[in-house]
Amino acid sequence: MRLNELTIAQAARGLKRKELSSVELTQTVFEQIKKRDLKVKAFLSLDEKGALSSAKEIDEKRAHEDILGGLAGIPVAIKDNILVRGLKCSAASKILENYVAPYDATVISKLKEAGAVIIGKTNMDEFAMGSSTENSAFFATKNPYDLQRVPGGSSGGSAAAVAANETIYALGSDTGGSIRQPASFCGVVGLKPTYGAVSRFGLMAMASSLDQIGPITKTVGDCQTVFDAINGKDKLDSTSVDLKKEIRNTKFEIKNLRIGMPKEYFAQGLDEHVDKLVKEAIKKLENLGARVKEINLPYSEYALACYYIIMPSEVSANLARYDGIKYGYSEFDKAGDLMEVYLGSRHHGFGAEPRRRIMLGTYTLSAGYYDAYYLKAQKVRTLIEQDFEKAFKEVDVIMTPVSPTPAFKFGEKIDDPLKMYLSDIYTVSINLAGVPALSMPCGRVDGLPVGLQIVGPQMGEPLIFGTALALEQNS
Ligand code: GLN
Repeated sequence: MRLNELTIAQAARGLKRKELSSVELTQTVFEQIKKRDLKVKAFLSLDEKGALSSAKEIDEKRAHEDILGGLAGIPVAIKDNILVRGLKCSAASKILENYVAPYDATVISKLKEAGAVIIGKTNMDEFAMGSSTENSAFFATKNPYDLQRVPGGSSGGSAAAVAANETIYALGSDTGGSIRQPASFCGVVGLKPTYGAVSRFGLMAMASSLDQIGPITKTVGDCQTVFDAINGKDKLDSTSVDLKKEIRNTKFEIKNLRIGMPKEYFAQGLDEHVDKLVKEAIKKLENLGARVKEINLPYSEYALACYYIIMPSEVSANLARYDGIKYGYSEFDKAGDLMEVYLGSRHHGFGAEPRRRIMLGTYTLSAGYYDAYYLKAQKVRTLIEQDFEKAFKEVDVIMTPVSPTPAFKFGEKIDDPLKMYLSDIYTVSINLAGVPALSMPCGRVDGLPVGLQIVGPQMGEPLIFGTALALEQNS
């Protein structure tokens, strides 16, 4: 096995026993990127010099002390909407093409403190809007399992980099499925944490009431390690909460675990092979002693409509800051007056999808339409949240597919936004309800990975990890 193929756990063991050094590990990862990324195109930018110098620093530290944590010296790739001081951060948009982050996101400070080696920034759909990376202003990332197919999105670069062994793990962000869906398309593990579990400070805001940063890894155990390192209350994000205590105190037993299968998620539109693989995974847990029952999430049918009102509304407010004055691309030298600077910079700086969503959101928030759209969607959101609350009185975890199909081909959905939005059908309600969910591989169809989604109640990450570990160990 080559070093870049190691999991976090394996690399940490090797580093601790001094069987390998962080410099060697990092060099091997860059060798792989140079070879494989010509085809996969997972990265927007790399920081080889910076990465090797932090790796060297960690190796020197390790020579003197033995108490380094589980992430020390291990390479990580970061989605390009998370700020890393001194590195470019474009959110895959022309409007921020040469923007350099002036400070670290809280998750980055935490990773740096843990000794992580940041290797570069990964491709994504522009401002995290999309499900395939085809909305990147620069290029699309390819699915390492089949280069004709999308890696999923919007964190497609992160998921593809992990799957192609171009990094040991990665961070992504998830507003409506952007960690889980690419993880499922690329056969890796991804967690969308409980809303507030991980600080959003330094994450470029897309839809602030839905956004969460989370890990993308090769194994469930690795996912837990990274989640433990990045979660926690942060005074720079007032929506963050302290989960640490709860997480440590929960004991998990697969025997008698109650699993709910929502009827609405195994209905028309679901590929029969995906359906079969997800059900087989659930059956495995049943054989280990878990109890499975059918449940109802009756408001699920409104989740997509609700999400595609709330998300663009928040997008239209959050993206107002890119005005051609404060950041990035500007047409101030071409324009006659201030209005022309705004209009020209935004028109040429943003791609079609952000423009579409800004317009939709401005409309749904405008006087006269606010009550009919935004306010109504907020009420539906509460009903969706209550669906989950009720369900979690009957069951401990809920299991569903992540996506109705395996990875689709380039061009298949990009010209029809509604078709693309429909592929988020099983993931968006989780963000609306603020609950955590993990995507893990549960088999393949014609060589393409399929993901299982394990959803927990708010702050239910321990249950999710317990369940996922049990399944991984028995697969
Ligand atoms: N695909 C969804 C969208 O386009 C989710 C995006 C995300 O989670 N960032 O909005």
